Amino acid sequence: MGRVFVAGSINMDVVATADRHPRVGETVAGKEVLYFPGGKGANQAVAASRLGARTTLIGRLGKDAFGAELRAFLGAQGVDLGSVREADTHSGTAIITVAESDNTIVVIPGSNALVGAEDVSAVPLAKGDVAVSQFEIPLPTIAAFFARAREAGATTVLNPAPAQKMSSELLALVDILVLNETELGFLAGVELSDSDEAARIIDVARRLQARADQTICVTLGRRGVLALAGHEEISVAGRAVKAVDTTGAGDCFVGALAAQLADGTPLRAALTFANAAASISVQRMGAGPSMPTAAEVAAVLQ
Ligand code: ADP
Repeated sequence: MGRVFVAGSINMDVVATADRHPRVGETVAGKEVLYFPGGKGANQAVAASRLGARTTLIGRLGKDAFGAELRAFLGAQGVDLGSVREADTHSGTAIITVAESDNTIVVIPGSNALVGAEDVSAVPLAKGDVAVSQFEIPLPTIAAFFARAREAGATTVLNPAPAQKMSSELLALVDILVLNETELGFLAGVELSDSDEAARIIDVARRLQARADQTICVTLGRRGVLALAGHEEISVAGRAVKAVDTTGAGDCFVGALAAQLADGTPLRAALTFANAAASISVQRMGAGPSMPTAAEVAAVLQ
């Protein structure tokens, strides 16, 4: 059984709720403040670990109280934190204001911006392992991580979110690209919406494909997932559930897919499992705390 290595961001999401948003220069009294462990790297590592994969997170925490709290939370989820080092700054933090059922968000990368090639150079990647990353740490670090992973015979999985342009060199290091239709449209330079037909989505994915053996998985929210694996097209229908909070659905999907691939599960079955796992996560509040266990996913797939 392989291991999952996630190189990525770790954030504390600080959520303030109020009856209305303040105008510029104004102060309003809020109702409560909530703290949620987040960051795509941490969320995906938690998803993989909760599902039973041996999971190592590679990242940086600041020398502050959030750093200590995030370390304790991730450790309690079974994530190996031996490769999470301290940085001489504050931890990644998102300041979120929720009012009138709308939110504003300011994200400060902090220590995440300091995850460098030296952080990924000593990671003990081996054949059968899965190396996962997202776009909340510097892209040159991801390229160094994936180059090492491919040399070691590991599978590389990239979730290019939040979307930004990437070099063709980085794209060529990716074995499995997992993204939603908006991110696919952005990277391919076309307009795509959630009402686009499967044939068009696959067509755009084919244009983005950097290698003949590359897999592109497009998550479609409640519509499920479409994948182009080499020349093969795979479609997994969405599961009809009552979604209460879709925050972290994509992260749950990526973490679950990585856990399955590390276990040696073939792609189609791994996608079906990840789709079921993500459909459970949307029925719960929050990102990290909403990730399901393997038993919960197995019950849904019965
Ligand atoms: P992102 O949050 O990155 O935009 P998606 O919204 O595409 O990602 O969701 C990722 C996956 O989560 C989907 O492919 C699906 O498996 C699951 N999912 C998301 N929303 C729902 C929903 N409303 N009902 C069932 N499954 C969902």
